[in-house]
Amino acid sequence: MATDPTNRGDALGMEPAEMRRLGHWVVDRVVDHFERRADGPAIAAGDADELRAALGGPLPRGPGDPLDAMQTLTEVALAHMQHGDHPRFFARVPGPSSFAGVLGEWLGTGFNAIASSWGGGSGPATVELVALDWLREALGLPEGAEGVLVSGGSMANLTAIAAARANAGPGVAYLSDQTHSSIARGLAALGFPAEEVRILPSDEDLRLPVAELQQAIDADRNAHREPRIVIATAGTTNTGVVDPLPELGDLCEQEGLWLHVDGAYGAPAALCPRGRTALKGLERADSLVLDPHKWLFQPYDVGCLYMRPGALTAAFRMDPEYLVDVMARRGEIDMRNRTLELTRRSRALKLWLSLRVYGIDAIGTAVERGIELAEQAQDLIRDDERFTLVTPAQLGIVTFALVDGDETAHREAAARLAADGYAAVTATSLKDRSVLRLCTINPSTTEDDLRGTLERLATVPPRT
Ligand code: PLP
Repeated sequence: MATDPTNRGDALGMEPAEMRRLGHWVVDRVVDHFERRADGPAIAAGDADELRAALGGPLPRGPGDPLDAMQTLTEVALAHMQHGDHPRFFARVPGPSSFAGVLGEWLGTGFNAIASSWGGGSGPATVELVALDWLREALGLPEGAEGVLVSGGSMANLTAIAAARANAGPGVAYLSDQTHSSIARGLAALGFPAEEVRILPSDEDLRLPVAELQQAIDADRNAHREPRIVIATAGTTNTGVVDPLPELGDLCEQEGLWLHVDGAYGAPAALCPRGRTALKGLERADSLVLDPHKWLFQPYDVGCLYMRPGALTAAFRMDPEYLVDVMARRGEIDMRNRTLELTRRSRALKLWLSLRVYGIDAIGTAVERGIELAEQAQDLIRDDERFTLVTPAQLGIVTFALVDGDETAHREAAARLAADGYAAVTATSLKDRSVLRLCTINPSTTEDDLRGTLERLATVPPRT
């Protein structure tokens, strides 16, 4: 009996012609999005009841029209979110994803790619190992550093700290008040008791202060606690500040401590000469995190972690009898043993494809543009008497204040822009000072985008 090659009695199967029709529709919508993303809003939040009404309803028991459903997803769900790839999305950390990354993601999803065991995913595992090696070389990290891809910076930091503790033993972790909040959350989730989490006030440049760190380490030793890990940041979320990595590297070496560097935001800057200078000492890290879904132009999600050779596997190896790999021959790498995930999609395909399609030099140029855009914004802010510059442009981030602006004024200004959809910026605070913040890592941002955003921030509408 002839079998339909695509629909072997599968109730969820589709005719190839239908798959192509629907697939092409998706491609067209996505390319439309890429072509027109600058024309739409930078951010749009929906009304909870309206979204529920449009997307909810009774459980669908029978088949529905796919195009109709996909239209609803596109026009309702995907229209109500932050558009991190919009050239005037300057808030939080933008996600200026590139099309090669999207293509890689689609291929992986279409083939249901897995990168867990060698036997089950040797192709995707090799893609991951190769992409990690290429990136390691491009960032100037030591040969032999081992990596793995996870969902993002929070998970990469958590994974790194769990592995550091498994390798080095329990003890006190040191961080600063500018460290990303996901790290303190991760430490708590990993069971670090409060007395083993030392959050030091940052210095006047918002950096982890080395002398105070040394004092804290000495005090802990005197109190018979075990100092263990220093958590530095290479590009803080608030201001793009880089902690003093060479000095921290020296201190950790002298004291026998693990140096973890959270470069989730800033580490990709090492792909261009100016960023490389700002990130001097990055290679001293025992473990380093960076997020390709931030400044490496990848669609969500993908975070990346590098560690000393062997440290990840020593922490996470698991080889139960039901995972015995009949296809493995010579100790090939099972990616599941480098992370807490077992079933894992292949996040490397998009990264590998982007590196092959664009080449690392073009990516480095795009990163450098982000650094320059923040400097252009800084110049515009300096020349405008309605603003005060608060922290200089550093790794694509600049912060400033409205003259006489307080937290309320800054939040209102940011909210006005967001409501309008013209642009999205962050209102945050540095220590106790309220500021506005632009993160300019989208290479398609123009000077006009910066000017228009600053003009609107400075223009307070008359109260009616
Ligand atoms: N670390 C830093 C410095 C960050 O800026 C961020 C996010 O902005 C994170 C960690 C968390 O990354 P993710 O949101 O990918 O979990």
